[in-house]
Amino acid sequence: MSCDFLALAVPGVQKLSPYVTGKPIDELARELGIAPADITKLASNENPMGPSPRVLEAIRSELAELTRYPDGAGYELKSRLARQCGVEMAQVTLGNGSNDIIDLVARAYLAPGLNAVYSAHAFAAYPICTQAVGAQSHVVPAIDYGYDLEGMLEAIDENTRVMFIANPNNPTGTWFGPQALEQFLARVPSNVLVVLDEAYIEYAEGDELPNGLNYLSRYPNLLVSRTFSKAYGLASLRVGYALSSPQVADVLNRVRQPFNVNSLALAAACVALEDAAYLAEGRRINDAGMLQLEAGFRELGLTWIPSKGNFIAVDFGRDAAPINAALLREGVIVRPIGGYGLPTFLRVSIGLPEENARFLVALKKVLASV
Ligand SMILES: *Cc1c(COP(=O)(O)O)cnc(C)c1O
Repeated sequence: MSCDFLALAVPGVQKLSPYVTGKPIDELARELGIAPADITKLASNENPMGPSPRVLEAIRSELAELTRYPDGAGYELKSRLARQCGVEMAQVTLGNGSNDIIDLVARAYLAPGLNAVYSAHAFAAYPICTQAVGAQSHVVPAIDYGYDLEGMLEAIDENTRVMFIANPNNPTGTWFGPQALEQFLARVPSNVLVVLDEAYIEYAEGDELPNGLNYLSRYPNLLVSRTFSKAYGLASLRVGYALSSPQVADVLNRVRQPFNVNSLALAAACVALEDAAYLAEGRRINDAGMLQLEAGFRELGLTWIPSKGNFIAVDFGRDAAPINAALLREGVIVRPIGGYGLPTFLRVSIGLPEENARFLVALKKVLASV
């Protein structure tokens, strides 16, 4: 007799569906029988520039030490982050990507009988990490695809411990401004931890998006999470961080795996932080690419959700799955977001000019036939 090990899993886990990632280039290349170089992937909000040469050099010089465990305390990276962000080192938590931070928060602060509040169409890690620990989700309907911050405040009850808010949100690209965040934080009960996920903050210019760091000293219940995966171009290395009160950081540190960030990632992140020119170039490419895609969509008579990220969700007004399938046959990978409650949309990451152009050509062809 073999046991049913699904039934034996804890209740939250039984009901989970695995996170759906962007289709890997090699997988589609195998399926189509073409070279990986002939595939255009605009599916995972990756930085199309590739890592900076200085970062690659830092990784190479670290290779000889791979036999050693990394610095479990991440001293060098934490001290640089603290200096750059104007906080104490004790306020910094390093994560294996910022997904790890979300998971640490859920494990430390959520459990059956407790709940997390987040929006419809919010980043998939929030429901997954909440369910995995058996906690409840209070999912608040969106307004024009964006967050209903007022509704989210109303969804708080005595068992709410965490709110997850991404600014801008993925996959919608929607955002809220400094004043909205200010008013929101002022009304969240002080025992509810607000996770402000700023995975795309480096793409923002001026004060169109609030900088979460400005609110840390006033709100000990605020945690700001950031990542090296997007604007810094290091998605594969898995490194992100949280800035919070020292007490929250201490709690997260208790559930953190001791070596959650590897030595190559630590070395790369330290150097990446100094590379302001790389970030500026990435912003420039992103802004130009966003305009290029919007112009292309306009020409095709399509509408989209205005975005402050490095991606844009375009609406086809009908099931987008066949369009996605046809794009794959053209060697173009984008992201269906039906799993986010947006089945008529595809999310397209901003690429280099030639990648965006290739996508638009493929899209035009596909729309004429599907
Ligand atoms: C991409 C993304 C992350 C970052 O994930 P990593 O684990 O740091 O690679 C976090 N939050 C949002 C909203 C994202 O889109």
